[in-house]
Amino acid sequence: MSKHVTHWIDGAPWSGAAERRGELHDPATGLISAVVDYASVREVDDAVAAAAAAFPQWRATSLAKRVQVLFNFRELLNSRRDELASIIVSEHGKVHSDALGEVARGLEVVEFACGIPHLVKGGFVEAASTGVEVYELRQPLGPVAIISPFNFPAMVPMWFFPIALATGNTVVVKPSEKDPSAANWMAARWQEAGLPDGVFNVVHGDKVAVDRLLEHPDVKAVSFVGSTPIARYVYENGTRYGKRVQALGGAKNHMVVLPDADLDLAADAAVSAGFGAAGERCMAVSVLVAVDPIGDELVRRIADRMAKLRVGPGCAPSSEMGPLITAAHRDKVVSYLDAGVKAGARLVVDGRGHPVDSEEHSGVDTTGGYWLGPTLFDQVTSEMEIYTDEIFGPVLSVVRAASYDQALELINANPYGNGTAIFTNDGGAAARFRNEVEVGMVGINVPIPVPVAYFSFGGWKASLFGDSHAYGPQGVHFYTRTKAVTQRWLDPSHGGINLGFPQNV
Ligand code: NAD
Repeated sequence: MSKHVTHWIDGAPWSGAAERRGELHDPATGLISAVVDYASVREVDDAVAAAAAAFPQWRATSLAKRVQVLFNFRELLNSRRDELASIIVSEHGKVHSDALGEVARGLEVVEFACGIPHLVKGGFVEAASTGVEVYELRQPLGPVAIISPFNFPAMVPMWFFPIALATGNTVVVKPSEKDPSAANWMAARWQEAGLPDGVFNVVHGDKVAVDRLLEHPDVKAVSFVGSTPIARYVYENGTRYGKRVQALGGAKNHMVVLPDADLDLAADAAVSAGFGAAGERCMAVSVLVAVDPIGDELVRRIADRMAKLRVGPGCAPSSEMGPLITAAHRDKVVSYLDAGVKAGARLVVDGRGHPVDSEEHSGVDTTGGYWLGPTLFDQVTSEMEIYTDEIFGPVLSVVRAASYDQALELINANPYGNGTAIFTNDGGAAARFRNEVEVGMVGINVPIPVPVAYFSFGGWKASLFGDSHAYGPQGVHFYTRTKAVTQRWLDPSHGGINLGFPQNV
């Protein structure tokens, strides 16, 4: 057992002895790589107490100084991104280039937050009424909690904490217990960047830690990302305790291909977006809707490409797709392959038969890893479990649609509404789709439409609970509350009692 991962509270690793711990496995080998402490209520309380104690001073720190710390963090993250990517690869299993991509998208949010002075400026009117000025302040909330999933251990926390910190809040992050080390690495970089102790804390663990964060009276807001049932639970409980909550949930993302689309481009996009990170992305394309008559040809081109994908350990430069996160998750995904066949879908490519790069090729003994190659189903219908469930693995389902209208109807009837894409060369059809589809993020000839950092990220329907999307302007809105001030500098000649409701004259 090589490593021990523990909490980061008030600027230092926690030195207590945990009552409960979990094991971490390298998904490429299946070997135990570390143990991680699981927080009890007491450790969560300690982290929140540190965040609450640090809040008054951090909140009072000038924007100029806060931004300086953000720039320092940005420099450290940028120059040491490879180190963070290696940590992600070792615990999550995704390939190194993909882990670098994740860090780059998190870095974008840090860079956005460096411009915070522009974003927190309030409005001012000079003469709302005679001699009366009105202006608005944006103030931080206090300690906020960020609870994140396993699939983006660096990027998802970075969707939130740069903006939370820039706006003057203090933070407690509860990363996924499956790949916890990225959060600790980032905590240490914040300290190097000059962030005062207690402003950024990390607690590890499971439901015990989450439940305590939801009920703790000093936690003022919760940003959550994970599966839909837990997102709903976090939203309902967090709001019941009077907190501001944004809870991003699961997805089933459809990519529509119209008959006029460039089929090679569409096949490339479907393979990239379906199997990147082994399908463990909330923006992965998991359903391809082929509008007649191109289905057969599109399926053939996708299957040809899948056969050439290199599956192997994330640390090997030749690998294009890594393993799944745990043995249990791999087995669950495999069970959908049998369910799909039983339900009558056509298993065009069976990922169980896909070769995994051996030690000879990759330098890693992959025999115990959690592998499943890319899988393709055709003739899938909307009643089948492989369609209704979020599989969160390298399984792409093709549904045939007779028309654009039928494709749209399918998407709008789906309970999820995270991302979607349309492939076409018809601008009119694309414009219609953009207007009519009930999904929060839309790609037009772009399969994974994750918005840039100065817009905001979020789905609709069962993919997001709450009304604020992540990062961008909505992130600033979420982490601040506005205060409207109406002022008059008194002139004795304006005295006198008036019991009427104030009117502007
Ligand atoms: P998960 O819901 O199992 O876990 C997310 C977080 O919740 C973790 O920190 C975990 O410790 C905690 N948690 C788990 N069970 C809990 C419980 N019973 N009570 C309280 N807390 C609990 O999700 P995951 O498997 O880590 O991540 C994959 C899911 O996240 C997928 O559904 C994926 O679509 C979703 N996701 C969504 C987005 C988005 O932006 N909408 C982004 C990334 C991932």
